[in-house]
Amino acid sequence: MAAHRIESGTEVRLVDVDPDATDGWDDGKKAARARLAKLRGKLADLQHLLWADGRHRLLVVLQAMDSGGKDGTIRNVFEGVNPQGVRVASFKAPTSTELSHDYLWRVHEKMPAAGEIVVFNRSHYEDVLVVRVLDLVPQERWERRYEHINAFEQMLADEGTTILKFYLHISREEQAERFRSRLDNPKKRWKFNAADLDHRRRWDDYMTAFEAVLSRTSTPDAPWFVVPANHKWYRDLVVAETLIETLEGLDLRYPSAEPGIEEIVVT
Ligand code: AMP
Ligand code: MG
Repeated sequence: MAAHRIESGTEVRLVDVDPDATDGWDDGKKAARARLAKLRGKLADLQHLLWADGRHRLLVVLQAMDSGGKDGTIRNVFEGVNPQGVRVASFKAPTSTELSHDYLWRVHEKMPAAGEIVVFNRSHYEDVLVVRVLDLVPQERWERRYEHINAFEQMLADEGTTILKFYLHISREEQAERFRSRLDNPKKRWKFNAADLDHRRRWDDYMTAFEAVLSRTSTPDAPWFVVPANHKWYRDLVVAETLIETLEGLDLRYPSAEPGIEEIVVT
């Protein structure tokens, strides 16, 4: 799964990444779903330990094109984790209050506190993705944001936040399929937004904007992972395994009990 990590300084070309890839997993979808069920249990245990340990925070950033699977990943990977220990923050088009501040203002307050996992469904990266593609601010402003973001994330990491960023990579054809299925299914139709087609028309511009993000903001302390995401089961496995490997690497411990606890007798 480490294969999907973007090393700092790599020039990423998304045409070279196959969204259909299922590298390292030859056992098919059914076995993958069974494995995910096991991983969920493990993740629930690790989240409990993260909370008890109380020394670390975990931020998980999810970015993708529309229908890329951000919602599905959250649902599938975090099902089973204690809701007290996980929060999801979704970033929509900024409100007028948010727009009257700098672009990191609304993001900073959503960061995890000690012992917490926070999942960002979209993030401050929208400020160099949709904002760049649709020219919502002039280039001289968005151009400087890559550096701001790297410095901001370095500060968070230095202060004890572990950061993992996932770009869920689907193909343009897969997006068409998913849009069609949204339109055909009365339970999914509400998710379809006519503006989604405007973004779709700018697919190549978005890919260029994502390449800039992945090439310029993957750092040792806040790495990006490019997840082949046409197969939902593979996408979920990659995200779950990466979270687990990372949490296992934190050397989390249950705090030692109060001295003399062995002598306590509950009467
Ligand atoms: P959804 O995630 O499908 O509910 O859509 C949220 C919409 O908000 C997407 O079209 C995003 O591009 C948009 N959005 C999120 N953050 C920003 C931002 N900083 N500036 C402009 N639009 C944004
Ligand atoms: Mg949407």
